[in-house]
Amino acid sequence: MTTQRSHICLNCQHPLRLDFTQRRPDSADSEKKSETVITEALTGHSRNLMKLISDAQFPSDAPVCNDCSDALRNEMDAQVATLDDEIKTYQTYINYLKENHPTTSIPDLKAKLQNVSDEEKELEQQLKKLLAEEEQLDLDLQTKRRTAEAASEKSGELWKKYRDNLRQVFEDQDELHSLEAERQYAEVQHRKLTDTNVLDLCFHIWVDGIVGEINGFRLGYLKDAPVEFTEINAALGQIVLLLEILLERIGVQHHELMPVAMGSHSYIKLRRNGIDMETYALYGQGTPLSGSSGIDPGIRRFLQLLEFLLKELKDRNKNFKPPYQIHADSLVDNGVKYNAVMTLNTDVRWTRAMALMLTDLKAACAQCDALRSPI
Ligand SMILES: [Zn+2]
Repeated sequence: MTTQRSHICLNCQHPLRLDFTQRRPDSADSEKKSETVITEALTGHSRNLMKLISDAQFPSDAPVCNDCSDALRNEMDAQVATLDDEIKTYQTYINYLKENHPTTSIPDLKAKLQNVSDEEKELEQQLKKLLAEEEQLDLDLQTKRRTAEAASEKSGELWKKYRDNLRQVFEDQDELHSLEAERQYAEVQHRKLTDTNVLDLCFHIWVDGIVGEINGFRLGYLKDAPVEFTEINAALGQIVLLLEILLERIGVQHHELMPVAMGSHSYIKLRRNGIDMETYALYGQGTPLSGSSGIDPGIRRFLQLLEFLLKELKDRNKNFKPPYQIHADSLVDNGVKYNAVMTLNTDVRWTRAMALMLTDLKAACAQCDALRSPI
């Protein structure tokens, strides 16, 4: 029995008229399945066409028209040819590999691969270690940088302090220099003062030509240049005061004579056993050298005291030598005696004696100053 059923070609979808002489059992299930497969194939799964044809057990499972089956066969032949070519190519390549790498064996390669893998792991571990070290070094670097910054700040502070101190030092040095200059000035002034003979300043003795003078008062008398007693008395007052000061300066006292300075009425006092015995005036009146002026005893006592002073000075300094020796009432100049009393004297000689006496006083003054202990 033949069953006519309408089918379409799976490829071109032309209706086919098939005569199934061989047919599987007509079961609704299989028929249904077949239709499902075909429908699936027709919905665009043409790539499975070959599979459908290959899997088909009955022609009705994969109906294809003659034209399409011819075309399919041709295409398959072409694919087979292509595959044959590929096989040939692979075979050639296998031969080539066998020829060129005859010793290469898979175990060796596997061992190599293992080695390379091991090496890679080792390198990875090294890399990890190095990264860890780098991290540690970064931390160290940061710590050190912070330390350096702190040190830099401290250094800056110290530098500021140093600068302040240096400025202070400069200021102190300036002040020191200023004080040193002041000190030197004061020292110079002090030396000037100590070098100055105060007595020389207070008692200016001056012998100009013949007539000597002290502090501007002339002590002398010349007939052609007369000096009044008032001036002579003032000059005598000055030399008594000077003598008194000089004795006091070297700390000695005559055993019985004492100068008493009273300006133009000065005198010499004679004391014995603590009792004032007599006074010798060193001031006169009238015309000098014109008779009894009354000053001769005083001048004699004054010469005594002056001689005493010069002797005391000589005791303190052997090299000291008074310019003019005193001999009784006279002063000696180049062996010539000039009497210091007015009685029976000439104006020139008396004036000369007074000048010599003033010169001795001036020398005593200088010697006194020289004896003074340096300050
Ligand atoms: Zn067809």
